[in-house]
Amino acid sequence: MAFGEFDLIQTYFTQRWHTRDDAEVGIGDDGAILTPAEGSQLIVATDTMVAGVHFDAQTPARAIGHKVAAVNLSDLAAMGAEPAWLSLALTLPQLDHDWLTHFSQGLREICEYYNCQLIGGDTTQGPLTVTVTAQGFVPQGQALRRDGAKPGDWIYVSGTLGDAGLALAAQQHRAHISDNHYHRVLERLYFPSPRVALGQSLREIASSAIDISDGLAADLGHILKASQVGARIDVDELPMSLALTESLTADEAIDYALSSGDDYELCFTVPESRRGVFDTLVARHSAKPTCIGRVTNEAGRLKLERDGETWQAPSTRLGYEHFS
Ligand SMILES: [Mg+2]
Repeated sequence: MAFGEFDLIQTYFTQRWHTRDDAEVGIGDDGAILTPAEGSQLIVATDTMVAGVHFDAQTPARAIGHKVAAVNLSDLAAMGAEPAWLSLALTLPQLDHDWLTHFSQGLREICEYYNCQLIGGDTTQGPLTVTVTAQGFVPQGQALRRDGAKPGDWIYVSGTLGDAGLALAAQQHRAHISDNHYHRVLERLYFPSPRVALGQSLREIASSAIDISDGLAADLGHILKASQVGARIDVDELPMSLALTESLTADEAIDYALSSGDDYELCFTVPESRRGVFDTLVARHSAKPTCIGRVTNEAGRLKLERDGETWQAPSTRLGYEHFS
């Protein structure tokens, strides 16, 4: 008998997977039966990764399994949500047991780490494509949104910026970096850490938040647009790893930190009145947030400054200054 969809799910996506009490039925029926926590709102996010578009042939299957969950959990983090359930739609060109073993391992590990249960999915044959939908909770009315930033709020980012972009550039021979740095930044490209705990601790503190998937300038731009405000950023304050500062010129490093994607850090705003609470409760997180600037009343305008002067990007490819 052929190895069918049922066997595939049984073999790779049910045995030894993390379970939760709030999933009465997960995989195994026509639909999952779930009980959201009382008094909470459900936050739902979906992301797709397509071979040849979002990752290339050399990307390890375990990294694909990790990352497709991580990018969704990063969206939940940006909403201040506690992750609960994931579902998976998997399209495979052919049955590849080695690939499935490593892909499912990557997905299973991150589910376990973040207390998530895989509650359903679908498998089909076709060009390699993975889609995950993640669901999580926030207490009623406490979700972080993009539209709450106010002039005078402080702008923060977690972790360091530009590492995943540098890894991709090195892989594509657009940047030359040492083996040691390459190893570190490749880990960030392949195995991003969604800032789930930080996101939850920002509830009732941050006035707006977003996760950085497309680059700081672009994603902060979404906050500015939704909140109808502007921002002033001091590019010398952008948090960067040694891999970035030791591999690139100062201007190039700033360019990467502002414009390269796939970092999955959080960018958020904190009102002056909450800054003390923020410093005592949040600033000690492992992906320690850095203050990089301030919200202004110039709607849609992102000003980049260095030593009090306007900073000019080495390339003009992105036009950081104007968003509207
Ligand atoms: Mg997002």
